[in-house]
Amino acid sequence: MFIGHYGVSYAIKRASPRIPFWILLLAVQFVDLLFMVFIMIGVEKVRLIPGFTAYNPYDLFYMPYSHSLVAHVGWALLVGGICWPLFRKAAPKQANLMAILTGVAVFSHFPLDLLMHTPDLPLLFDSGPKFGLGLWHYRTPSMIAELICIGGGLLVYFRGSKPGPGFAGQYGMHFFAIFLLVLTVATPFLPPPETVIEFGLQALAGFGIIAALGGWLDRHRMWPETPGGAQ
Ligand SMILES: [Zn+2]
Repeated sequence: MFIGHYGVSYAIKRASPRIPFWILLLAVQFVDLLFMVFIMIGVEKVRLIPGFTAYNPYDLFYMPYSHSLVAHVGWALLVGGICWPLFRKAAPKQANLMAILTGVAVFSHFPLDLLMHTPDLPLLFDSGPKFGLGLWHYRTPSMIAELICIGGGLLVYFRGSKPGPGFAGQYGMHFFAIFLLVLTVATPFLPPPETVIEFGLQALAGFGIIAALGGWLDRHRMWPETPGGAQ
């Protein structure tokens, strides 16, 4: 799954508005972020095979340290643990919940990838069977699943927050949401990267830009617990 992961960021932001949104946007893609770094340095592996699935050309045949079930649990605990002291400074009473939900955001990557991937997700690092329900073999259902996830998250988010002052507050997140929805529909039709390095760099740039822009636009929204929209 690609853009659909961000639906979880949007939904969790509503559940705990004090969590900086850029953290949630990075958290849901945290294991993909690691995967991109790992494939560029050769720790994990991907093959680019045109037509590998109907949705994309990625044969993700070796991703034990970023994407196994046990790795997801470990990364979720680590990210939640790193964020906890930061949250305690900003919002002492809510820090536990904020850290847990940030960990949940990291872990949420697993069930969503499980739905889409071909059987390439191990449970225990690189031993044992691999899992994946393979929705990527079907282009339209894949796109519908992505749209349900991102659309559902956006709905939850916009119903829980209000526009803030200024153009960015009034319309910024709406434009960003439209951008994400268009990107979801366009993704399978975009020319695929030609090399693993290009794939990794493109993805890392995308994750960074989305986290920075989405995080900035969210600061212009207003939440019930945070009058004025500041966090
Ligand atoms: Zn992934």
